[in-house]
Amino acid sequence: METSSERAPLAERVEELLAPGGPLPIVAAGDPVLRRAAVPFDGQLAPGLLARFVAALRVTMRAAPGVGLAAPQVGVGLRIAVIEDPAPVPEEVRRVRGRVAQPFRVLVNPSYTPVGTARAAFFEGCLSVPGYQAVVSRPAEVRLTGQDERGRALDEEFSGWPARIVQHETDHLDGTLYLDRAELRSLSTQQAVAARWAQPSPERAARALGFGLP
Ligand code: ZN
Repeated sequence: METSSERAPLAERVEELLAPGGPLPIVAAGDPVLRRAAVPFDGQLAPGLLARFVAALRVTMRAAPGVGLAAPQVGVGLRIAVIEDPAPVPEEVRRVRGRVAQPFRVLVNPSYTPVGTARAAFFEGCLSVPGYQAVVSRPAEVRLTGQDERGRALDEEFSGWPARIVQHETDHLDGTLYLDRAELRSLSTQQAVAARWAQPSPERAARALGFGLP
């Protein structure tokens, strides 16, 4: 059994984090919190505080802007992440990348397993690795299990861009960054991606930079 004193420090830290209001500071690569496995959420934050924390994650994700944010990215080592993607992209990008709109969701204690063997490789970035993108090959479809913010069971299959988002965010909770899975020869600045590699598929980048695609 956890005692209230064991619960207190984490809740206190979250209270302190939320006190200023507005978007939370995002932790950048190099901070050990991004390399530790986050602790399963098990009521360490009381319902009211959890709701305020989730709201702060949403504000921070939207302000960045990003399509997902995991608690360790604001320095909190709990298995909680938020995702949301309005997907304001051209039709061709939508088709090739499967980038369809993903409504706001809270993922609590998520884990994923691949469905089938198909893989998809696209440029991907991370708010904790500002300024860069790299191509990551990932399972094209995954089954995600866990809970939502109210503790209701989550068991759902994701495909297309939403599958990439839930894998990226769940990986954060395991201390994994997208660069660990990336084709490092594809590593490009945001400016290079915008200038050269904005095509819906990374095929041209793969030929020019010399990396493989699935
Ligand atoms: Zn990230």
